[in-house]
Amino acid sequence: MDDLRNTINGCQVDPINGRWLDNIEPATGELLGRLPDSDGDDVQLAFEAASAAFEGWSSSDGTVRSGHLHRLADAVEAHLEELARLESIDNGKPIALARSVDIPRAVANLRFFAEAALADRTEEFITGERARNLVHRDPVGVVGLISPWNLPLYLLTWKIGPALAAGNTAVAKPSELTPVTAARLGELSVEAGLPPGVLNIVHGHGAGAGEAIVGHPGIPAISFTGGTVTGSRIAAQAGPCFKKLSLELGGKNPNIIFDDADLEAALVTSLRSSFANQGQICLCGSRILVHTSIQERVVDAIVEGARGLRVGDPLEDKTQQGALVSSDHRDKVHACVQRAKDEGGHVQCGGQPPTALPDRCAGGFFYEPTVITGLSMETKTNQEEIFGPVVTITPFDTEEEAIAMANATDYGLSATVWTTSEDRARRVSNAIDAGTVWVNCWLLRDLRVPFGGVKHSGVGREGGEEAMHFFTEAKTVCTAQGTTT
Ligand code: NAD
Repeated sequence: MDDLRNTINGCQVDPINGRWLDNIEPATGELLGRLPDSDGDDVQLAFEAASAAFEGWSSSDGTVRSGHLHRLADAVEAHLEELARLESIDNGKPIALARSVDIPRAVANLRFFAEAALADRTEEFITGERARNLVHRDPVGVVGLISPWNLPLYLLTWKIGPALAAGNTAVAKPSELTPVTAARLGELSVEAGLPPGVLNIVHGHGAGAGEAIVGHPGIPAISFTGGTVTGSRIAAQAGPCFKKLSLELGGKNPNIIFDDADLEAALVTSLRSSFANQGQICLCGSRILVHTSIQERVVDAIVEGARGLRVGDPLEDKTQQGALVSSDHRDKVHACVQRAKDEGGHVQCGGQPPTALPDRCAGGFFYEPTVITGLSMETKTNQEEIFGPVVTITPFDTEEEAIAMANATDYGLSATVWTTSEDRARRVSNAIDAGTVWVNCWLLRDLRVPFGGVKHSGVGREGGEEAMHFFTEAKTVCTAQGTTT
């Protein structure tokens, strides 16, 4: 694969410092290519381009911005198969997943916010006969967008869409572990006729390009998705500068199965919510909480399902579990499983790299889907995000106990509740601390609804109008009616 380049001012450019990072293919452990190891100089160049483009873009009609976003969506859609393959190679995820979820969702994100660009968000409030208030929503300026490696193009476009729709220009940084589809998006944005400077993509490390974006005095808003520790560093750097921050962080989501659940549906979906994308989705239900009376059935079914998942070459259509994103991450996941054993957990299946893999994948970063039982909620295994194909199953006796266990972590991103009782569903979803609670489903997303976490899972909401509000500043113009004294 050719070296990737930054997209700045509509051009493909090398890093100014001449430094490059290696990009490793997770399924093989081989060098895939190189990406710019950008620093503050590249971010400055991107900022200047975005700044110069801001006046024209922000003052353009919503229909113009909408048209551009639709054309970008058309370009992504036209290259769906190519982008799905690139995403699978770069991230290690099964190509079937990239083809059916990642890239279609990137198209949907751009189209959704293309439509959002058309709405007039000005609100009017009449103060009796004394005044008329108009609340305008102005774009913030040049915004910084920083995204993680697990859903690369999906999450990057989830930020680019609302940022550009609202009239901002952007400096975006994808993860250094999965830069390929973002680089291709940069090229496609130029081919699709997006005005130069509106979308700039700068590659590199968090400590280099990332911190330079967060610390740039001309960038007043940062939309970040990634780990909680990184989010806290970003908040510490950006807070004293009073920047707007949207932080979408980690999760340790409970998946609660009551004894009155439709067990067949619960088990099929729980297997998916445990292991989809190798468990590397912030919304994965990594803690299955199950009523004692059905514990054995649930453990047996999840273990059997986990053993049956086809782990293999991500580029094979039938593969269900690909590689983890990096050797470091695979080692971290394995260390977490070792720690679970030290904590007294029973590894029911998995707990090691698979032995039977195609030759091409011999050096890849694979890990078997792993099910662990016998751990209390206080253990580190049940407290800390592992972000891999590892799920714990823990029994509860009462509804109150299930709620207490669900809420017993610092995280609060999402939860799933399986029950056929509407009353119980309402009680439990009201009591759970999470930004999203799914009842009898998982990962069912309507792009209009707010999305985000509470506690250490984040600050702010993405999605629909929440995203459009984040990427705009409200300005009230209060005009007196008649004569005032
Ligand atoms: P990460 O925090 O290591 O990196 C995310 C991005 O931040 C990358 O682009 C990275 O280069 C950049 N970065 C790192 N340090 C930085 C700094 N100091 N300043 C600016 N940028 C910096 O996260 P990751 O390992 O790429 O992703 C996995 C994490 O993301 C998991 O914790 C997962 O739960 C979380 N996640 C959350 C959501 C959500 O919507 N809440 C979605 C997906 C992933």
